[in-house]
Amino acid sequence: MVEKKDIVFVKFGGAAITFKDIPRKPNIEVIEQMSKEISDIYDEYRLLIGNGGGSFAHPIASQYKVQEGLNVCGKEGFSKTHDAAKDLNDLVVESLIKQNIPVLSFQTSAATIAQGGEIQKMFTHPIKNMLNNDFIPVIYGDVVVDEINGCTIVSTEQIFKYLGREFKPKRIIIATDVDGVYTSDPKKGNAELISKITQDNIKDVVEGLGGSLETDVTGGMAHKVEELYNLSKLNICVEIINGLKENYLKRAIKGEEGLGTSISVYSDD
Ligand code: ADP
Repeated sequence: MVEKKDIVFVKFGGAAITFKDIPRKPNIEVIEQMSKEISDIYDEYRLLIGNGGGSFAHPIASQYKVQEGLNVCGKEGFSKTHDAAKDLNDLVVESLIKQNIPVLSFQTSAATIAQGGEIQKMFTHPIKNMLNNDFIPVIYGDVVVDEINGCTIVSTEQIFKYLGREFKPKRIIIATDVDGVYTSDPKKGNAELISKITQDNIKDVVEGLGGSLETDVTGGMAHKVEELYNLSKLNICVEIINGLKENYLKRAIKGEEGLGTSISVYSDD
């Protein structure tokens, strides 16, 4: 019997693939480096890639207050945020295709319904077919029509949470621009890297965390950690690593632990 390859979700974090303080400035070098690392190993796994919004979607979403619903942000804010998110996704997809990786962009807003800021339903059948046929879907944090608020924005972590329940990936790798989760924002001063988050310290970790340093309409690091911890309850190993460090992404996809922060419900020591 042919063994099905493991499913691994990978996030190209917005902080790694854009310059977060310069609107619409992609970090092409990092996007290309990550794409090369994916090209070395993609055929050993069934990968689903998601990219964050970084300096493309976040400043516009925050300017128009997309998170507060259609009455506040208006149709213009909704459309413009989607357009910016799509443009960054295009750059990621182009870079992966340059490496001959069989990727397909998957437009979150075209397949998702939200209610009160949470994903209520996503049409995932095409994703299942892509994964089973060795295509790599590349989804992205995006605006979504919300049946209560008119519109909302959903993060890659929220999408992973929804898809995680259905596809039960073996691992989820989040590649950002710092070494993992710290006791506080490492860009703002002294902070200690938290190498493991388990049921023993999750409460303290979340309480100690602030939001992202730059504009992040999807809730910053505390939100990320909570969403990822909930995912780890499904027996998924979650790793947050520094995507700027060469080969860390590749090594984490291959299952190496201890490169950054590991999140799992139970401690194995
Ligand atoms: P992503 O790259 O996944 O889009 P975010 O921009 O949401 O990531 O989060 C990464 C950023 O969060 C980092 O650039 C860092 O400056 C900031 N940050 C804030 N608090 C923390 C923390 N406690 N640990 C690590 N990073 C933090």
